[in-house]
Amino acid sequence: MKLDIAVMDGDDIGHEIVPEAVAVMEAALEAESGPDVTFHRLPAGWKSYLEHGHTLPPETLKRLHEMHGIVLGPIGHAAYPKDRPECINPHPIIRKRLDLFANLRPARSHSSLPHLHDHVDVLVIRENNEGFQPDRNMMAGCGEFQPGPDSAFSVRVITRTQSERVAHEAFQAARRRGGKRRVTAIHKRTVFKLTDGLFMDSVHTVAKEYKDIVLDDHQVDTFAMLLVMRPQEFDVVLCTNLFGDILSDQAAGLVGGLGVAPGLNVGDAQAMAQATHGSAPDIAGKGVANPYAMIVSAQMLLAWLGAKHHDDRLERAARRIDSAVERTISEGRYLTPDIGGTASTHDMGSAIARACTHLLVT
Ligand code: ATP
Repeated sequence: MKLDIAVMDGDDIGHEIVPEAVAVMEAALEAESGPDVTFHRLPAGWKSYLEHGHTLPPETLKRLHEMHGIVLGPIGHAAYPKDRPECINPHPIIRKRLDLFANLRPARSHSSLPHLHDHVDVLVIRENNEGFQPDRNMMAGCGEFQPGPDSAFSVRVITRTQSERVAHEAFQAARRRGGKRRVTAIHKRTVFKLTDGLFMDSVHTVAKEYKDIVLDDHQVDTFAMLLVMRPQEFDVVLCTNLFGDILSDQAAGLVGGLGVAPGLNVGDAQAMAQATHGSAPDIAGKGVANPYAMIVSAQMLLAWLGAKHHDDRLERAARRIDSAVERTISEGRYLTPDIGGTASTHDMGSAIARACTHLLVT
């Protein structure tokens, strides 16, 4: 079997962490003898604007449709000029055009890393392409508008189809994880009676197909408190787009911060590894960015591809990366400053790649 994976560095620290993630994937795939994976470097982001006149050139978008998987580095769109249509934020467009409808963001505490709570292991799954996100929740135009200088509106879109799709993803993840086998759905249906009402109706419909998984739910404000106080109680947390965006950063904060917050965008046909964090311009170019989130995002992509294409070698490569990351973290010698070490991005990335090569993984 041959696989094609697109690689886009993104901006700022993306140029530092994405090459580490690719090197780790290569080491793990080689250690497991395949399959044959070709990495295609495609232009996207600010460098692409300077070289090709667009932050997401049409040719890149076209090629992405041909890929089995994608690795996308963080994008520094906040610094893009606002008056140039060629300077769009690429990742919402990619998520929308490739129908990557769910975003999986795990948060796990490691005993040897600074963290606020022990034994945290939650997976936040958010709907990816509707909700309050104005850059992708309309077929044409923008979900945010301003009729006059002193009033502005945002439209929140919730559909039964997308809610059911992301709910299936959550129940299947709870099964796969095999832990507490619990899905906690988040809403504010006391206020958003129609939209969150529809979301929760959809979740309850889907839940009937997963009798082995416990479903409960919380209002988003209550849940924000419970996640800080008793995060160990939760397993898979199912959210609409904006609530999930916020709660996944909060979960990351419980276990060591954004440097250890990976993510995977999934669709029916393709998946895209993308760390939760932004492009961190404050530390770009210093060689201190933590590559963990990007590496574990890439690991999630290999695991997803393995399951999708029924290829055990990919699943083993993913398990190998997981063990290599755990080993590197517990040894504590090659950790970046955000998690209490003094190592550089490359030191930590190559320690994980070396562990991938040398570990005996069953
Ligand atoms: P966005 O809105 O694009 O997600 P953001 O405003 O949340 O971005 P980030 O770029 O994620 O901001 O940075 C937030 C803080 O976290 C910064 O201080 C940054 O240095 C830090 N940070 C983010 N990613 C990492 C990383 N991989 N390693 C170390 N520190 C990081």
